[in-house]
Amino acid sequence: MESAGHSRKQPRVLVVDDTATLRQMARDALEEDGLEVVEAADGRAALEVVAEQRPDLVLMDVNMPVLDGCAACHELRLNPEWANLPVLMMTASDDVESMRTAYEAGATDFITKPINWLILCQRVRYMLRMSRTAADLERSQVQLAKAQRSAGLGNWELDLRSGAFRCSDEVCGLYELPRGQLATPAALLERIHPEDRDLVGTALELALSDGTPFSVDHRIQLSDGPDRHVHLQGEVSTSEDGDPLELSGTAQDVSGRKRAEEEVRFLAYHDSLTRLGNQRLFRDRLNHGLAQARRQGEIVGVVLLDLDHFKRINDTFGHSVGDMLLQRVADRLQNCVREGDTVTRSLVAPDDSTVSRFGGDEFMVLLPSVRRPQEAGHVARRVVDVLAHPFDLDGHQVVVTASAGISIGPTDGEDVDALLRNAVAAMYAAKERARGSYQFYERSMNDVVRRNLELEGELRAALDADQLSVHYQPKVELATNRITSVEALVRWTHPELGSVPPGQFVPVAEQAGLIVAVGEFVLRTACAQTRRWHEAGFEDLRISVNLSAQQLRTDEITFTVSQILHETGLLPKYLDVEITESMMIENKGVAIAALHQLKGVGITVSLDDFGTGYSSLSYLNSLPVDFVKIDRTFVSAIGTDPNNAVITAAIISMAHTLGLQVVAEGVETEEQRRFLLERDCDEMQGYLFSKPLPADELTELLRNHQPQRS
Ligand code: C2E
Ligand code: MG
Ligand code: MG
Repeated sequence: MESAGHSRKQPRVLVVDDTATLRQMARDALEEDGLEVVEAADGRAALEVVAEQRPDLVLMDVNMPVLDGCAACHELRLNPEWANLPVLMMTASDDVESMRTAYEAGATDFITKPINWLILCQRVRYMLRMSRTAADLERSQVQLAKAQRSAGLGNWELDLRSGAFRCSDEVCGLYELPRGQLATPAALLERIHPEDRDLVGTALELALSDGTPFSVDHRIQLSDGPDRHVHLQGEVSTSEDGDPLELSGTAQDVSGRKRAEEEVRFLAYHDSLTRLGNQRLFRDRLNHGLAQARRQGEIVGVVLLDLDHFKRINDTFGHSVGDMLLQRVADRLQNCVREGDTVTRSLVAPDDSTVSRFGGDEFMVLLPSVRRPQEAGHVARRVVDVLAHPFDLDGHQVVVTASAGISIGPTDGEDVDALLRNAVAAMYAAKERARGSYQFYERSMNDVVRRNLELEGELRAALDADQLSVHYQPKVELATNRITSVEALVRWTHPELGSVPPGQFVPVAEQAGLIVAVGEFVLRTACAQTRRWHEAGFEDLRISVNLSAQQLRTDEITFTVSQILHETGLLPKYLDVEITESMMIENKGVAIAALHQLKGVGITVSLDDFGTGYSSLSYLNSLPVDFVKIDRTFVSAIGTDPNNAVITAAIISMAHTLGLQVVAEGVETEEQRRFLLERDCDEMQGYLFSKPLPADELTELLRNHQPQRS
C-alpha cells in the first residue's frame, strides 16, 4: 500500500470546498503548476477522499455544509496516520475566530480569501517541501532509533534549566529502569556498579561544572547474569550566549565488545581447549614467583605433569575424545590443586597456584609459596593420584596415568628456563622409574657435573700428592685354595673426604683423560710390589691390573707396559690385564690389536665383569683373552635365583670349551664357593676369602695362608 505521496511522480492535492467554481479555479491553478488535483465538496467527503486517494496536501475551506473544515481537520488529526498531513485552510481575512479554531483543530497554515492563485501555488509548494523534509526526518529518526536499538544504543538528555530528564527506552532497558517519566539521573546513577559509580559521578560533575565532555565505560550489576558493560558518553550544549542548556549523550551496551576483548586478552594467556593458563602465563608467573622467592628467601615449586601414552588414546578413540580427556584432566587438576590448598593450609594459597597447559599432554602446576620441597611433593602425589581414577569419556572408560617431575627454584635453577628444563628431566626420570609416579629433580643430577669438575682438579693434585695407593685382592684357585694371583685396585685417600671409591673417581679420571696417568701409576706400583713379593719368596704370584679403554687406545700401551716391566724387573708372564666388554665396543679393531700385542709380549688378558655387557659367549671366541671373570651379580644370585645359577654354570662350561679359565668375582658365601667348585670354576675372588688389602697386610696373608685342597 502506498503510504505517502513521495513515490508518486506529482504531488497530489485535495481541494475541499462546497463551491464548484472555486474548486475549478484551484484545480486550474494547481494543475498549471504541475500538481495533481482531487476534489471534495464537504468535510465528510474530504475524509473519505483522504483515505482513498492519500493526498500529499489538503486545501480546505473553513465553512462548509455537512462537516466544516475545522471539524474535518480535527477528525483527520485523530488518526495518527494523518497527523502530519499538511492542511491549508482557506478563511476570510477578518475571520480571526475561525483561524483560532482551525489552529486548534490542527490546521497547518492559512490562506485568506479572496485567494491569490499565484501565492497559493507558492504556499502549497513550500508546504509540500516542508512536509517531505519532516517525513524524511521522521523516517530517519525511526531508522536511527532502530539502529540504536540494534546497537544497544540509547540517548538521554538533561535540561539544565528545568532539571527535566528524558531518556530513550533503550537507556531505560540498559539500566533496568522503569520506562518514561520515572527515570531520573539519580536512579540511573544508582544502577551503576558500586566500583564504577565514582568514575561516572566525577565525569558528570566535570561536565556540569566545566562543560567537559565525557566518555566512560562502566558496569551495571544485573539482577541475573553477569555484569553489563555500558559505554556512556555525554556533552553540554550551550545557547548562543554560552549559557549551558542541556547535558545530553548516549549510552551503549558494549558487553559484547568487552567480552570479545576479554576473550582476546584471555586467549593471549590461556589455552582455548582447557581454559587453563598457557605457557606464557606460566612463565610470567614463575618469573615473578622466582623473583619474590629470592627476595624473601623462599622457594617456588614447579610440577610438570605428562600423561603417559596419551597418543594411544588419540589413536584409539579419535581426537575429539582426546580433547575431551585433556579438558577433564584440566578440571581435575584445577580442583585437586585448589582443594588441597584449602584442606591443607600448609600447602598453597588458593589463587596462588597456577595450573597451565603447556601444549600436548603436558601440564604445569606452579606453587609459588611452598616452604619445603616436600610440599611440592605432596601436590605432585595428589595430582598423579587424582588422575589415576578412570575417566568416562562419552561412554568410553579410559584409564590414564601421569608422571610428574618437580623442580624447586632457585635451588634447581636460577631462571625460568633452567627450572622448566630440570622439571622435564625429573619427569623423564619418573617415567623411567615407573609410570604414574613423580620424581624430584635431584640436585645431584647437576651436582654430579659440578662435583666431577671439582674431583677432576683434586685428582690431578692427588697424583702428585701421593694420595693414590693400590690395594690387592687375592684370587684363589678353588680346587686347591691356593692364592694364584692378586688384583690391583686403586685407592684414593682424599685429605678431607677420606677414601673415595674407584667407582666414583675412575669415570671422572676417564672423562678428564687422567686415567692414563692413574693407570700407569697403578701398573708401576703393582708390578714393583709383585716383584718384591717374588723376592720375598712368593715366586709364582701373578698380578692383575685393570685397564681403561683409553689406555688400550693409545698405541703406546705395549711400550708403556714393557717399559714398566723392564723397570721393575717383573717378567711379563706374571702380569695380567683386566679389560671389560664395554671397552671393546668402540674401536674394537684398535683394542683387539693392542691386546694381541700385549699377548705377544707374554702378558695374559682377563675379560672383567663378564655377563653385564653386551657380548655373547660366541663373541668371546673373537677376543684374545685367557680368563673370563664372571660378574658379581651372577655369583651373588647363586642360591637365590635358579636362572642365574644355570647361566653361571653355562658360562663356566662354555668358557672351558673355548679353552679359557674362569674366575668368579664377588664370592661372599660358602654356598657360592661350593656351587662354583662343583661346576669346575677355576678361581674365585671375593670377601669370603679376603677383601682388597694394602700391600703389607697382603704380605701377612700370603705368609699365613696354608693352601688346603678342598
Ligand atoms: P672390578 O675390576 O670388577 O673390581 C672388583 C670390585 O669388586 C672391587 O671394587 C672389589 O673391591 C669388589 N669386590 C671384590 N670382592 C667383592 C665381594 O665379595 N663383594 C662385593 N660386594 N664386592 C667385592 P673396587 O675396588 O671398588 O673397584 C671397583 C671398580 O673400579 C673395579 O671393578 C674396576 O672396574 C675399577 N678399578 C679399580 N681400580 C682400577 C684401576 O687401577 N684402573 C682402572 N681402570 N679401573 C679400576
Ligand atoms: Mg677388575
Ligand atoms: Mg669385575
